[in-house]
Order: sequence, then C-alpha cells, then structure tokens
Amino acid sequence: MVYGPWTTNSKHTMSILYTIYLIASLTFILGLKMLGSPKSARKGNLIAAFGMTLAIFGTIFLYEDAAGYHLRNLPLIFGGLIVGTGIGWLMAKKVQMTAMPQMVSFFNGMGGACAALISIIEFRHMTHGLASLPNALYGEISGEIATRFAIMYAGLIIGAISFSGSIVAYGKLEGKIRDKVLPAQQVINIGLFLGIVVLAICDVTGVLKMDTLLYIVLGLSLLYGILFVMPIGGADMPVVISLLNSFTGVAAAFGGFLYDNKVMLIGGILVGSAGTLLTVVMCKAMNRSLLNVLIGNFGGGAAATGSGEGPQGTVKSINSSDTAILMKYAKKVVIVPGYGLAVAQAQHVVHELEELLEKEGVEVKYAIHPVAGRMPGHMNVLLAESNVDYDKLVEMEDINPEFATTDVVLVIGANDVVNPAAKTDPSSPIYGMPILEVENAQQVIVMKRSMKSGYAGIENELFYRDRTSMLFGDAKKMLTELVAELKALD
Ligand code: NDP
Repeated sequence: MVYGPWTTNSKHTMSILYTIYLIASLTFILGLKMLGSPKSARKGNLIAAFGMTLAIFGTIFLYEDAAGYHLRNLPLIFGGLIVGTGIGWLMAKKVQMTAMPQMVSFFNGMGGACAALISIIEFRHMTHGLASLPNALYGEISGEIATRFAIMYAGLIIGAISFSGSIVAYGKLEGKIRDKVLPAQQVINIGLFLGIVVLAICDVTGVLKMDTLLYIVLGLSLLYGILFVMPIGGADMPVVISLLNSFTGVAAAFGGFLYDNKVMLIGGILVGSAGTLLTVVMCKAMNRSLLNVLIGNFGGGAAATGSGEGPQGTVKSINSSDTAILMKYAKKVVIVPGYGLAVAQAQHVVHELEELLEKEGVEVKYAIHPVAGRMPGHMNVLLAESNVDYDKLVEMEDINPEFATTDVVLVIGANDVVNPAAKTDPSSPIYGMPILEVENAQQVIVMKRSMKSGYAGIENELFYRDRTSMLFGDAKKMLTELVAELKALD
C-alpha cells in the first residue's frame, strides 16, 4: 500500500509506532530490572518479550519510510517469523537445564549473525543507490555516506566476531571443541584485528575501491572471532560469554542507527551495557583484568594440571547414613552447589533436604560462587526453580567468613570453585581466582561420582584434606538417600 509522502495520515501512523517503541523500550528496562531477582525474573522476561512482540508487529504493520511506503515482502517476513519461532520454541522446550549455557551462547551467536547480515544487506542497498546518484549530489552528501558506511562496518565486524566467537564458545561448553593456542597467537590476533580495521577504514574513506572488500572484512572478522575465543581457557569462559553477549548488543545497536530505529537502538544498548557490566562483575569474581583474560592464557582447559605434582594424602569416603547423622546433629550446615547439581537435576531434592534439616533446628544456607555451573547466575536459577528461599543464597564474600563457624559443609557437584590451589599454588591455572573457603569448616562432605576433575581440568587438594570426606555417587541419588536416612532417624 502506498501513501503520499508526509501526509497527515503518515504522520499519525508514525506517531502511533513511536509510542509503541516507547512502551516497548520501557518494558525492556522494566524486564531487565526484574531479572535482578529470581522471584521476579520469569515475569520480567515475559514483560520484555511482550514489548518485543509489540515492537516487531508495530514495525511490520505501521512503519512507513520517508516516501510513505510500508514494509513489503510480508510473506517472506511472516515465513521467517514462523520458522524462527518454531525452531526457537522447540529448542527451548527440548533443552536440558544443563545444556542451557550452550543454547544461550548459540542464540547469542544468532543475534550477532543477524546484525552482520543487516550490514551486508544495507551495504548492497546503499552501493546500488549510490551508483545512480549524480556526482554533484554525491559530493554534497559524502560525509553522511561515509558515516553510514562506518556504522555498517562496525555492525558487520562486531556482529561477525560475536557470531563465530559464540559458536566456538558453544562448542567448548558442549565439550566438542578444546582450547587451542597457536604459536604467536597474540601477534596473529592483534595483526588480524588491525588488518580488519584498516581495510574497513580504507573502504569508508574511499582510499581502496573494491566491491569484494566488504566480504574480505566479513571473512577476516569471522576468523578473528574463532581465533579470539579458541585459546581462552576453562575458568575464563564466563568472562568471554558475557563479553560476546555485550558484542551482540553493540552490533544490534549499530543496526538501530542504520535504520534510525529507536527501539532497536535502545534494545541493543541495553544488551550491550548489561553484557559489559556482567563482564566487569565476572572479571572481578575471577580476580582478573579483562586484558589479562583476553591476552593471557589462564585456565588452560582440560590439559591444565597446575604444578604437575598432584595432591598428596589419602582420600576418606563416607556413606549416606553417617552423613545424615553428622548433619542432623549439626548446628549450622552450608550447602555448596556446583555444576554436578545441575547435571543431576538434584535441585528439588536438595530443597527437601534443607527443609528436613531445618525442621531439626539446623541452620541451613547455600554458598553461591559467581562462576559456579556453566553460566552466570546458573545456581541462582537452578535453586529458584525448586523454590529455595532467595534469602538463603549467600554470596561468596559474605559466606566465606562464616565457614569457620560452620559444622558441616556439603559440597554437591562443585569442584573448581572450592579448590584451594587457587590460593596456594601459583602454577595452578586457576591461581588468583577467589574460591569458597570451605576448608575452614569443621567437616567437609564432597558429593560427586569420582575423583575426576572439574571444568578447569585440575586436581583438587581439598579432597585429600583431614576434614574432608567423599560421598561418592550421583548427586540426585545420594541426596535422595540422605533424605531417606534423615527421615529414618526421626
Ligand atoms: P566444576 O566443573 O569444577 O565441577 C563439577 C563437578 O561435578 C565435577 O568434578 C564432576 O565430578 C561433578 N559431577 C558431574 N556430574 C555429577 C553428578 N551427576 N552428580 C554428582 N557430581 C557430578 O564445577 P564448579 O561449579 O565447581 O565450577 C564451574 C567451572 O565452570 C569453573 O571452572 C568455571 O570457570 C567454569 N565455567 C563457568 C561458567 C559460568 O558462567 N558459570 C561458564 C563456563 C565455564 P564427577 O565427574 O567425579 O562426578
């Protein structure tokens, strides 16, 4: 349908659309705020999704360009929407809770790919438009053209890096890709990045005129994304994931600039800034600077072994019935959840254990390490799912001084986040990372299936300490046994 330019009707339609954008932006901000607490997170997510749906359909049906044209290609747009929604819905329905981090990384990569594709398509639109522009007019608006090209390149480069980097992160979290450090990796990475920037500047300023330059920059950016994430070691993955998240937000914001679309711009800026803040928080949690994460080779993945000597001493094991007695007669128990709790899907039964202990008059708290599990906030999400009271989740800085007055610490499927090597062994790949100082408690019970290492691939000396006992087995199975034993003790 075609309207004449600047008709009253057009202006009226566009002001309705801008109001919708304003409402959508407000829902994003409100949703983000509500994500701050597990109690309100689900509602916050729905509110922001509602705002996004409003903005999408508002754009499809109400948007008019300066010449008064509505969006065309509606069958294509709706076809894409239906297929994309179907695939996304199925993936989200089928995904195991433990595979959630991979899926988040994959979806983040798709966001980066979209931003890069927007740049490619707009680049083609613009180059076609410019070819038909008279030289005199071209001269007049050359500054504006260069700015648009610069924005396109920024969206393309950041989006492509985010896409390929996120796919490598996905592969690493899935255990399909191993950390790999090339000889002179840092020199290659820096050289490649500089090359990308120089080529983009050459095109924007018209120094180099080549139709294929955009595709060369695209290819190099994809390669850079791979090389940038490939060497980053196990324990640094949380930082990289949140950094890639912020990249996608920034790339989408450039798309918003290109289309002069306020809601896309605001959405992109919100994701970009939230991702950046999360990156800072994760760096702080790992006691590392961002530069160190990006160019150092911390947490050298499964191959890392620390000093190589391995912990000395013997390992004591304990059974569920003795553990139940220890816990029943304790005054204070701190539960440390880790990745294994998520693997075993033991969040509901751990809550049952907590309630039983509380009935016996035992004080129970959960110690939350910022990088426990495989995604930021993993443990909070998991425990919120089983209705554990949020006030019982205590952050690392607050719980650490309490371990000295704790009778029993129950470590469930956690390993790296309680590894004392982070404090004592300078050659350890996790050296410097703040940990939960569970070794200060009277008794430490570690529930896991074997003596195998965690994500960072290193041995844990905690398992050999005098006050530590190992309760070997799958977390859900052992917790169910513990609950049964506690009930039997009544
Ligand atoms: P870890 O990965 O260090 O250890 C998990 C332990 O759980 C393993 O040693 C494993 O031992 C045990 N386990 C696995 N399955 C089960 C099961 N079914 N029942 C009982 N135990 C089980 O986990 P942490 O949470 O301590 O540390 C997280 C690690 O992941 C850190 O190194 C962090 O840097 C990294 N990481 C974190 C991300 C984040 O954003 N949070 C993102 C990416 C990586 P066993 O096989 O013997 O049972």
